[in-house]
Amino acid sequence: MMAAPGKLASFRLPPLPTVGELIKLYNLRAEKQLSQNFLLDLRLTDKIVRQAGNLRDAHVCEVGPGPGGLTRSILNAGAADLLVVEKDTRFIPGLKLLSEAAPGRVRIVHGDILTYRMDRGFPGIISKTWEEDPPNLHVIGNLPFNVSTPLIIKWLESIANRTGPFAYGRTRLTLTFQKEVVERLTASTASKQRSRLSIMAQYLCTVRNCFTIPGRAFVPKPKVDVGVVHFTPLVRPQIQQPFKLVEKVVRNIFQFRRKHCHKGVEKLFPEACRVELTQEMMQRADVDPTLRPTELTIPHIRALADAYAHLCNHEPNLLGYEFREELRLKHLTGQRNTPMDTPTGIPPGPQQPC
Ligand code: SAM
Repeated sequence: MMAAPGKLASFRLPPLPTVGELIKLYNLRAEKQLSQNFLLDLRLTDKIVRQAGNLRDAHVCEVGPGPGGLTRSILNAGAADLLVVEKDTRFIPGLKLLSEAAPGRVRIVHGDILTYRMDRGFPGIISKTWEEDPPNLHVIGNLPFNVSTPLIIKWLESIANRTGPFAYGRTRLTLTFQKEVVERLTASTASKQRSRLSIMAQYLCTVRNCFTIPGRAFVPKPKVDVGVVHFTPLVRPQIQQPFKLVEKVVRNIFQFRRKHCHKGVEKLFPEACRVELTQEMMQRADVDPTLRPTELTIPHIRALADAYAHLCNHEPNLLGYEFREELRLKHLTGQRNTPMDTPTGIPPGPQQPC
């Protein structure tokens, strides 16, 4: 429904210097080594903000506001409480100016989003149970790519554990990524871009590829294209196992993306019991061992994770076994082939499964 004109005017910002003028005023040169690329076109920042949904009276956390283009669009969309988390001190004066233009609506945190405790950033009263509709809290951000990918991996684990931004319920995220990462996040079964990230994101969330932002819209222009992605955590994750277990199964399977999937599954087990337990796991999951990792659906991965959890219940030390760690130790000890029962050349101790 359209807002009454008077109502809309009440949360639009008063006239301010443009974002470009602010950049000049505060000498906010983009730091190349921090991969800072600014969005100055407010029509575009409005379009990003629209992907989040209705922000009227919403609580919003904006990550990496920089010179504040997206920040203005969030305020113009009617957010009642906007918490911005910015790492670079140079942007704080410009953000204060914005905050003065929207009295009582902007809170500025000078900090790192990778360590910021968002579970303490908003009033508990806005919380919803997991099964309810999402809370009126949104996370929006145009972050550097070297931050947005580790951040989404961290937040996927937070979704599984209902911590951080998800301590308030199924908080929605609207974030930018380089196009290649967008393709991986949203890739469907059998597509070329299907990867670990596709499975981890899609088993926990509805992931929507909203639109691509042309590189020329940024100052300075990045080398890669950029996409906007919207995440809504699912009421019931498609795999009901601990995040770390799912992550381990998926990581092992995808380490040989072009081979049959049983190749990766084998590496979940120490040499001594590899053949036998791989066969048991594939049979229990009822998954064709000759499928390629990219051909596996989320129900396939669910069946494999459930089968692996079952085997770990019988042999708890299995969960701590890491093939890569075994390789590293082999490398350190200079061994090529090790006895079947001592895969690392280290005598089996209480931690050695099988
Ligand atoms: N959002 C602004 C825009 O769209 O024009 C700035 C985008 S720029 C790509 C990324 C911003 O994130 C910069 O302001 C940078 O200082 C900030 N930033 C980078 N790493 C951060 C972190 N770990 N925590 C919070 N902010 C961060």
